[in-house]
Amino acid sequence: MKITILGSGTSTGVPQIGCKCEVCTSTDPRDCRMRASAMVETDEGVRLLIDCGPDFREQMLRFDDFRPIDGVLLTHEHYDHVGGVDDLRPYCAYGDMMLYGDELTVSAIRMRMPYCFRENPYPGIPRIALEAVSPHRAFEIKGVRVMPIQVMHGRLPILGYRIGPLAYMTDLKSLPDSEWCLLEEVECLIVNALRMQAHDSHQNLDDALKLAARVGAKETYFIHMSHQIGLHAEVSCALPPHVHLTYDGMVIMC
Ligand SMILES: [Zn+2]
Ligand SMILES: [Zn+2]
Repeated sequence: MKITILGSGTSTGVPQIGCKCEVCTSTDPRDCRMRASAMVETDEGVRLLIDCGPDFREQMLRFDDFRPIDGVLLTHEHYDHVGGVDDLRPYCAYGDMMLYGDELTVSAIRMRMPYCFRENPYPGIPRIALEAVSPHRAFEIKGVRVMPIQVMHGRLPILGYRIGPLAYMTDLKSLPDSEWCLLEEVECLIVNALRMQAHDSHQNLDDALKLAARVGAKETYFIHMSHQIGLHAEVSCALPPHVHLTYDGMVIMC
């Protein structure tokens, strides 16, 4: 399985508009972070996009070779995770695009993009179809089994996804007891680590390291970082050997 980190940044992206901190002004490309998203490609060539944020267009232009996307897994309805759904349009040339998310996310998309769901739609709109999925109820996309995981984003229940050896969870603050069984034998854990200081609805670096140790995946990769995480080069060096900060365009094989 091949995973491309399309975006490794928090909701504002890094650099953050107007900020002149050492991270926002860094010349290391790894300190430049688009909004969090990943492309998963199975050994059979099935391609699943996880989240479709406002940087989707730029991410596809930079990191993709324009092949069909077989499904889009949405974690939750916040703009930094769904703001690019309209830009899926070019990929709809391959056929209707299936979007999966929990009930709240699916109804939020329907409400925000009513022009996509009218009976006689304007020509050229993205042809998208929505399907609500629930935690612990696995479903299949072209023979690939996807298991939704219940993740708590502060008090908001959202979804993470388990696909074979991979677990992808973003915007996690805590994980209910019921979910740990879904992380057994995970080889590649991708999970959020916002910054050093605590935050109400996101794990900070310490929280993320504790979660990584408890899951015990072979390799753990952090995503959804803010400029307050510090410089990529410095923070990376201080992490345990099997824990990594991601950067935009990073390719992970598992
Ligand atoms: Zn987010
Ligand atoms: Zn900054």
